[in-house]
Parts: sequence; C-alpha cells; structure tokens
Amino acid sequence: MSTAPNVAVIGAGPAGLTAARRLRNGGASVVMVAPEATSEYLPGALAVATGDASAASYRTRVDLAGLEIVPGRAEAIEPGRIRVDGSWRRVEAVVAAPGLALDRVGSTMAGPVLGFWDPSGAEAAAPRLAAVEQGIVDVVISSVPYRCPPAPYGLAMRIARWARRRELAVEVRLRTPERHPLEVLGRTLGDVLLAACADAGVEVRLGAVVDPEALAAGAVTEDPVDHRRAALTIVIPPHRASPLVAGLLRGESPLVPVDERFATEMSGVFVVGDAAASPYPRADGPAAWSGTVAADAVLAELGVADAQSPATPQADCFVDHGDGAYGRFRISYPDGPPPNGQPDIAVEPPARARARDFDDAFGRWRALRAEGAAR
Ligand SMILES: Cc1cc2nc3c(=O)[nH]c(=O)nc-3n(C[C@H](O)[C@H](O)[C@H](O)COP(=O)(O)OP(=O)(O)OC[C@H]3O[C@@H](n4cnc5c(N)ncnc54)[C@H](O)[C@@H]3O)c2cc1C
Repeated sequence: MSTAPNVAVIGAGPAGLTAARRLRNGGASVVMVAPEATSEYLPGALAVATGDASAASYRTRVDLAGLEIVPGRAEAIEPGRIRVDGSWRRVEAVVAAPGLALDRVGSTMAGPVLGFWDPSGAEAAAPRLAAVEQGIVDVVISSVPYRCPPAPYGLAMRIARWARRRELAVEVRLRTPERHPLEVLGRTLGDVLLAACADAGVEVRLGAVVDPEALAAGAVTEDPVDHRRAALTIVIPPHRASPLVAGLLRGESPLVPVDERFATEMSGVFVVGDAAASPYPRADGPAAWSGTVAADAVLAELGVADAQSPATPQADCFVDHGDGAYGRFRISYPDGPPPNGQPDIAVEPPARARARDFDDAFGRWRALRAEGAAR
C-alpha cells in the first residue's frame, strides 16, 4: 500500500530541484509538480534568440529516482494541501518554487515590439531578429527586478556582434530604468558592463522610463522621447509573481516575503528561488541555495533530519559578449547576508574558452534532472 507523500515541491527550476533532492536524500517522501515533467534552462535564451540553438535543446525531462513526479501545474496552495488538475492532495509541507511570471508585451503577431525572457519566448523572437537587415535594434529592460541582472547587457552585445559578423548596418541600443547597471551590488559590475557594451558598440541609456500600460499594448514610450524608431524592440518584460503565490504577496513587489528559512506566513508553506524576497540576485546559485535552506527547515520540522545549510549563497553569472566569448561575474557573501555583509565580487574577463564553462554549467544542470538516464 502506498502512503501519501509528506512534502510537495512545486517547480523543477534550480530552487525546486535542489529542494526535492535534499528532501528525498534527507528521508522525506516527496511529490514534485512540474509542467509536462520538464524543466527549461533559462540562460539558453540568448543563443536561441540569435538562432544559434533551439529552445528544445535547453529543455529536459525531469527524471528523479525515489520521488513521485506529477506532470502538471499546481493551481492552489493551502496549509496541509495543494491542488493539481482540480484534485487536492494532502501534504505535510509545501516548498513552492514557481519562479517569476512574465507580463505579455504587445502582440505575438508581427510588429516592431516583442518581449521574451526564456528560451521558448526567444524562439518566437528569433525569426523577427533574423529579418532585421538594417536600422536600430533596441533592448529594453522594462522594470526591476528581472532574472539575471547582467543578461540583458549580454543579449545586446550578442546581437551587436552577431549583426557585425553578418556585415549588417544594425545599431544596438540598451535602455534600462537602472541608474547604474546592477547598482544594488555596488559600482564595479556596472562599470564593467558599461565598458563592455561600449566595446561591442552598444549604446546604453540609463534611467529610461518605460510606461507599462503602453508596453502591454505593444508600444515602448520613453522619457525623454526618442524620435529614432527602432526596426525591432526587444523588451525584457515586467516580471510578476506566479498566480500560485499571489495570495502571499504584500505591497507592490512581485516577491513573496519569507523569513530566513524561506518560510512564508502560511503554516507549513515555504517559497524559494526567484519568487522569494531574498536580498540576493535572481540567479541559479541563490535559487538552489534557498531550496536547500527550506528543505533543511522542513526536514527539521518533520523531525526527519537535522542538516546544516551553508550560511549564504554564491552566484555565478555568465556574461555573453557575443562571437562565442563569455565573461563571468562571481558574487559571494563571506561576511554574511546583505545589507550588513558586503558582496565579494570577482570579474572574469571575456574569453572564447569560457564558452566551455557555459556548456559545462548547462551539462551539470541537466544531469541533476536526469538521474533516470544514468540508471
Ligand atoms: C536569459 C537568462 C540568463 C540567465 N543567466 C544566468 C546565469 O548566467 N547565471 C545564473 O546564476 N542565473 C542565470 N539566470 C537566472 C536563473 O536562470 C534563475 O535565477 C533561476 O532559474 C531561478 O530558479 P527558480 O527555480 O527560482 O525558477 P525557474 O528556473 O524559473 O523555475 C521555475 C519552474 O517552476 C515551474 N512552474 C511555474 N509555475 C508552476 C506551477 N503552478 N506548478 C508547477 N510548476 C510551475 C516553471 O515551469 C519552471 O520550470 C538567467 C536567467 C535568464 C532569463
């Protein structure tokens, strides 16, 4: 006779996946809910946008031993239960890791403005970018927070060098509401990004004001108004909370308030990864770390194990410079969490050899989800 699973994990991104593995290895009975039992590697979006890879190549089936995987979307969370496909399942704790949702930008049909920030969206954008033979391509960060702070700068540099390789008369501009790129991490990384963009021929405009209502209708309006129309405007859409955790939000932020164990105000419900209001960047390392912290807290509450999670995460963000070269920002918190602990920042300059590191990171990401292939 099967017993009801004790812990539900929702989402198979870095946060949910790490939580599920930690819970299973700690002796809990785990049910994981993931759409189509798949997971998408978000950093692949840039290569997909320029037509150098397919979205499918960055999607993998989740096949983990010793836990139940339910292909589908969780629809609701209540203390002690979750609803999937209209049916409630009883659980003793929930770790929700749905990431962030993206607002729709304009129409999905042809037009000069489109939005994406994942490989699937990038695949729809690729033919539109490929059709640009001259003129301006704008990359617009519509609002903060957004996933992976350096990545839009990487997208702009990748497009600029991609166009130059094709000898196209294309000018790439980046617009951001930030007063300085990645300003919450100090000035160093922003200075590095601005210099890199200048080197790639990308013009950066800081402090741009983008009207969210116009954006939803497919128009980008800015202050100050820019009279040079772009042939294509790529928008990093406003990031919203998943509807699943909307009831846990407070104020205007799309991030769910959590305590230091990633527990929410709802009993037995933890929110981890990009969806949680933690002081760390929206990046893979901090997401995975939060999954570990929450899993350890759940295991301790269930009396199954008493593990010690690391005190702070490390973020490794690749910076695409185009033409196959990647730099990397490594951010750690040796003095403890912000705002008291200052981030320790290491900048690795762009090199073609680092493309292998990018591929290796993807390989590790995929291997974590594909235990079945190794059986
Ligand atoms: C273009 C780009 C480049 C990036 N580059 C880097 C990088 O170089 N380094 C780095 O560290 N980070 C990078 N990131 C950021 C990193 O990918 C994210 O921070 C990380 O994926 C967040 O993990 P997560 O588990 O919280 O959410 P996600 O990875 O978004 O996963 C959430 C999962 O939950 C699922 N889900 C959502 N709702 C439900 C539901 N109701 N029921 C069930 N499942 C649900 C989703 O389908 C998804 O699979 C990049 C992101 C982007 C977009």
